[in-house]
Amino acid sequence: MRGSCAFEDKVTHSAEAGASAAVVVNNEDEVFLGTVGELSAIPAVGVSGLVGADLLSIPDLELRVTVDSEVRQESSYSVLAETPGGRDDNVVVVGAHLDGVEEGPAINDNGSGTAFLLETAIRMAEQPDPNNQVRFAFWGTEESGLVGSSEYVAGLDEQRLDDLALYLNFDMIGSHNYGRFVLDGRMDLPESGGAPSGSGAIAKVFEDYFEEQGQVSEPGVLSGRSDYLAFMQAGVPSGGLFSGADGVKSEEQAEWYGGTAGQTFDPYYHTADDTMENVNWDSVAELSAAGAHGVEFFAESTLPVNGVLSMSSVTVDLPRKGDAWLR
Ligand SMILES: [Zn+2]
Repeated sequence: MRGSCAFEDKVTHSAEAGASAAVVVNNEDEVFLGTVGELSAIPAVGVSGLVGADLLSIPDLELRVTVDSEVRQESSYSVLAETPGGRDDNVVVVGAHLDGVEEGPAINDNGSGTAFLLETAIRMAEQPDPNNQVRFAFWGTEESGLVGSSEYVAGLDEQRLDDLALYLNFDMIGSHNYGRFVLDGRMDLPESGGAPSGSGAIAKVFEDYFEEQGQVSEPGVLSGRSDYLAFMQAGVPSGGLFSGADGVKSEEQAEWYGGTAGQTFDPYYHTADDTMENVNWDSVAELSAAGAHGVEFFAESTLPVNGVLSMSSVTVDLPRKGDAWLR
């Protein structure tokens, strides 16, 4: 049965118990696609809950499994670009993943985040040099295990890692039935974990921005399910914005954000219908403006996060243009 332990564990244990193949039965009626993290010793297939129930109802079932599959190694790339100026020992990294699931066009997850990143980079290129260097990271291969961001962090030596002031993540900002979630750097939610000190100060910058706009925001769980994970594990203060995926919108949240209570924030999450038509453009506009404000803020100063102020200016005088860049 699907659930509890990882697919990989189920398959490994089956092989060790002498099975020649493993069949994982979904806990719901429909069929599903699971991922076995490492190459397994035996073939593994997933079946729908309906097929599984049929099979399990047959006494003394003898099952023959024929699998036609291929294991291939492929290359993938992350694309990084940085401002030519700004302190390179206090770098602000801003990231979004470039890849999407195979099931669909992946426009909200994560065309929305990468579009925000690209537009912000273009606008920043038109501005004078920031105080702190800003590095834009378009991550490859997030969906198959946060590969691009993890490899990037693993490849930094101690000095280069120490030069990173903070990391901002943008993974879905145009969810159809959206909310305004600020990644939970203070770890207010019981499910959040592992945020290095300074992460709460990142969240506060976004929260203050939304409050100034008269827009409700709330903490979004730091679940480790996106590219901030490797940065947090390496001790880099992390934050970012998120418009919601498979969580269900409450009545109260429908009052705050509009949309439909009782429905998930993105009903098209990881499906063939994650299309341009199903992107919520109010969500894109609001979260982009907030995101650009955050990038501009930290490009100017990371003082609230790590106590590092620009060497060139003692007072922080924010021009506050960032949130207008993307309108
Ligand atoms: Zn994503």
